[in-house]
Amino acid sequence: MSEMEKFAWGAKEIPVVRSVDVLVAGGGYAGFGAAMCAARNGAKVLLVEQLSALGGLVTMGYVALTFSYIEGIGFELFHALKNCGAVKGRFLDLEKTKVILEQMLLKEGVEILYGTSIVDAIVENGAAAGAVIFNKSGFQAIRAKRSVDATGDGDLAVFAGVPCECGCPELDGYNQASSLVMHVGNVDFEAMDAGSHGSFELVWREAIDKAMAAKEYPYMIDKRVNWQVRVPGRDPHHAEVYICYAHSRKCRCTDGFDLTRQLIEQRQQCQWTIEFCRKHLPGFANAWLIDTAPLLGVRESRRIMCDYKVTGDDLVDGARFEDAVARAMHAFDAHHPTEPGHIKHIVRRKADGTEEKCYVNPGQWREIPYRALVTKKIENMLVAGRNVSADFMGQSGIRLVLECLNMGQAAGTAAALSLKDGVTARKLDVQKLRSRLEEMGINLFHAPEYGQSGIAASSKITPADLIYPENNPSGQANVVLTDKARGKYAMNVSEIEADRMEKYLSDNGYAQTDGDVGTNLE
Ligand SMILES: Cc1cc2nc3c(=O)[nH]c(=O)nc-3n(C[C@H](O)[C@H](O)[C@H](O)COP(=O)(O)OP(=O)(O)OC[C@H]3O[C@@H](n4cnc5c(N)ncnc54)[C@H](O)[C@@H]3O)c2cc1C
Repeated sequence: MSEMEKFAWGAKEIPVVRSVDVLVAGGGYAGFGAAMCAARNGAKVLLVEQLSALGGLVTMGYVALTFSYIEGIGFELFHALKNCGAVKGRFLDLEKTKVILEQMLLKEGVEILYGTSIVDAIVENGAAAGAVIFNKSGFQAIRAKRSVDATGDGDLAVFAGVPCECGCPELDGYNQASSLVMHVGNVDFEAMDAGSHGSFELVWREAIDKAMAAKEYPYMIDKRVNWQVRVPGRDPHHAEVYICYAHSRKCRCTDGFDLTRQLIEQRQQCQWTIEFCRKHLPGFANAWLIDTAPLLGVRESRRIMCDYKVTGDDLVDGARFEDAVARAMHAFDAHHPTEPGHIKHIVRRKADGTEEKCYVNPGQWREIPYRALVTKKIENMLVAGRNVSADFMGQSGIRLVLECLNMGQAAGTAAALSLKDGVTARKLDVQKLRSRLEEMGINLFHAPEYGQSGIAASSKITPADLIYPENNPSGQANVVLTDKARGKYAMNVSEIEADRMEKYLSDNGYAQTDGDVGTNLE
């Protein structure tokens, strides 16, 4: 590209509208966790969110399935959701979720500012000192002693001059494929179950092949449905689902023009897909498309470089760290940047010079070190969530919703403790941070019961017990167990989490109110 023309924009004086201890940029699950924990540890917190609700990709991107690895305030959140019927298994009612996230932050004393974009960082003497924001009031400044960048795209850190990586280095720097999630109404669950013969994914996959052969789609969007969520609490004959199927590839997820291209392309794909669903899928004959998500589903963009970079090797090896502050349980999950399908492995060279594909094995888990949250170059700035310091494949396995929440909890706690102790975030006594996280219900000192795929960490599963994604008939991208082994070792994540949640509730004196949204929070 020829050199871009530059325009001199001039320096402005803008009002400082807040001075806080901790500024949290972005109100997704990572930002929510950071704000909750910073406030719970005594800090005055402002959370700035560009959209109109908390929850980020979950509530605004319709990623309505979050049950995976709960820790700390995750238990409180799920208790609140459960109490008002907003969660069933892994599936969420998103409107109720938005209210609960808001109520929890307000109760903790966090100030929320919606409809406001962070447009620049304030850096003084090499340290984060706040941000320039823009909303209906125009440009304004926030002063802050500590900042947590939970924008998902690392906006604040990049504005401050922290280096970043973005996209897949082997594939021209393209990001993971993005997905616009569709919200479908009037689905008949009974007919869906009856016609699915135990595997909706398999039915979908066969129907896609049929539709492609009949040229009902002009091109292959994906070989499989990524997931579908049944919204809890609906009439089963006239129910709602969220479907993640649309995909854009060759994405540049920090380029406004390309993000617009992705939205336009996928909105069209969703129109094709609702017709496909009505024609081919059991239970969808009378379904309609309610809407598509207000927030495009960007899985990966800038990864902010910190004192440590989590790698694909760390995931395969189940890495442990002296300064671990969160755990991750998922497998690789990189939606292929340039073609349908997924990348679920890394390639390693063996001693004899040959290459081997390495997957994350079920039952495994790994840790995220504090250093992966403390930005290079700029003091007193932390990151949390999908913009964590990681390589392309490393990020793909630690970007899960509750893992982002857990990173947020660690970053927010660290921001507040570093202030209390009068040290920079980088100089914080990490063992003290770990003890405080443990007190807050985050298990860092004992092996978890289960790891990836909800398989007991103590299981003796070997690679021979597994079906790798390439051979999975439904096209699902997870590494799964053969049926024989499933009976022997597989554990149901939802059940494990339900047990852990019940224990947490009784230990903490919570009562079921069976009330409506938020009643348990009073
Ligand atoms: C289509 C799709 C399907 C997925 N499926 C699953 C799944 O099945 N299970 C799972 O666990 N995970 C899944 N994920 C991953 C998971 O949803 C995300 O990685 C996770 O929710 C990210 O949380 P976050 O808080 O880091 O970022 P986000 O949720 O992206 O939140 C960032 C927030 O910051 C705000 N923001 C951004 N820039 C600015 C700015 N400049 N100023 C102010 N605010 C700003 C945004 O509006 C947003 O609210 C999926 C992701 C996608 C896209």
